[in-house]
Amino acid sequence: MTPADLEFDQRHIWHPYTSMTHPLPTYAVDSADGVMLHLADGRQLVDGMSSWWAAIHGYNHPRLNQAAIAQIGKMSHVMFGGITHPSAIALSRQLVEMTPSGLECVFLADSGSVAVEVAIKMAMQYWQARGEKRQKLLTLRHGYHGDTFGAMSVCDPQNSMHSLYQGYLPEHLFAAAPQCGFDEFWNAEDIAPFAALLAEHRAEIAAVILEPVVQGAGGMRMYHPEYLRQVRRLCDETGVLLIADEIATGFGRTGKLFACDHAEIAPDILCLGKALTGGYMTLSATLTTREVANIISNGEAGCFMHGPTFMGNPLACAVASASLSLLAENRWQQQVANIEQQLKWELLPLLEHPAVAEVRVLGAIGVVEMCQPVDMARLQQHFVAQGVWIRPFGKLIYLMPPYIISPAQLTQLTQGIASALSALY
Ligand SMILES: *Cc1c(COP(=O)(O)O)cnc(C)c1O
Repeated sequence: MTPADLEFDQRHIWHPYTSMTHPLPTYAVDSADGVMLHLADGRQLVDGMSSWWAAIHGYNHPRLNQAAIAQIGKMSHVMFGGITHPSAIALSRQLVEMTPSGLECVFLADSGSVAVEVAIKMAMQYWQARGEKRQKLLTLRHGYHGDTFGAMSVCDPQNSMHSLYQGYLPEHLFAAAPQCGFDEFWNAEDIAPFAALLAEHRAEIAAVILEPVVQGAGGMRMYHPEYLRQVRRLCDETGVLLIADEIATGFGRTGKLFACDHAEIAPDILCLGKALTGGYMTLSATLTTREVANIISNGEAGCFMHGPTFMGNPLACAVASASLSLLAENRWQQQVANIEQQLKWELLPLLEHPAVAEVRVLGAIGVVEMCQPVDMARLQQHFVAQGVWIRPFGKLIYLMPPYIISPAQLTQLTQGIASALSALY
């Protein structure tokens, strides 16, 4: 990697949420192994992000590599229309088996945002097939569901700047975000704003869509499982479908295999992505019940109207299937419980720093919320100098390391945050 390469990158390549005229610095990574990112300049960083919730088993994992290589030797891709293959079948079996009960029909798609589009379309087709015109979704403020238009329409209106797309974006219903924290005493008033909106608009609402228990990119907020139980109860009472977006929370991140398990509920439609392939490549799944699938299939279209080119991509399915097997063998529950314990031990004391507003830990997620928005470039530079990869956003400095991280490596991450607080604040 030459300086000219980096200059080309800055001049010609868009990165997530960046400006082409004032791009933020990027760090060149040559390779990655286990929990370590190897920079092109020779430095090594402990990864605190799992590449945005995805790389739960770490990088360059021999078993996942082997699964990819074995599949490449047979075929990397084949169309899914009229054709099936062993990797999609093996993966779908595992998903039906491990997800909350009743979810037995699997739609494989390209990315998390597309999984959300698919879920929304399923809900729309479901009501159409039942002869009812229901086109509104009810969701929560501070949510995040992806960047495509349907998904964006249910993201927090402020965070995702709905004003930019006004007139083009469908308008949905937003309930106040839950206030009662995960560990707090349940306050029955917390569900009142949601219940009121649902009661008022019940005849127009096709589905409720939310991130169960942990709201991720919209603020890293952790709410009480009883809120989710109440949502399930209210959806049952009104016949409204419940879509759980577990794209971030799925596969053990919150301490349960799925965040819905904290409330012991099952949604009608479930979206999965991110860690599905262990962070190897993009793939998502939308699961639904036999009942919803039957109603959609018996509607006017006679089918579900979606079918992306790379649906059920064999390479992605093979790696995902191997990743789920690894998850089962790796005692993820113990790994995540250990990370949670250590994060609590090492992050909670940071609350004493005057620039820190709140510290939250759940499962393998640790969040330090600052009083003011952070200077991302400056903070990132400090972290890299400390040998850690942590990418803050807004007021949030947060960790969600690979489950295989060692206690010493995790301490390097929490120390990185502590040292940033003393050096820069
Ligand atoms: C990341 C995310 C998405 C979007 O997934 P992409 O793969 O980035 O399209 C949707 N919902 C949630 C909860 C997410 O965290």
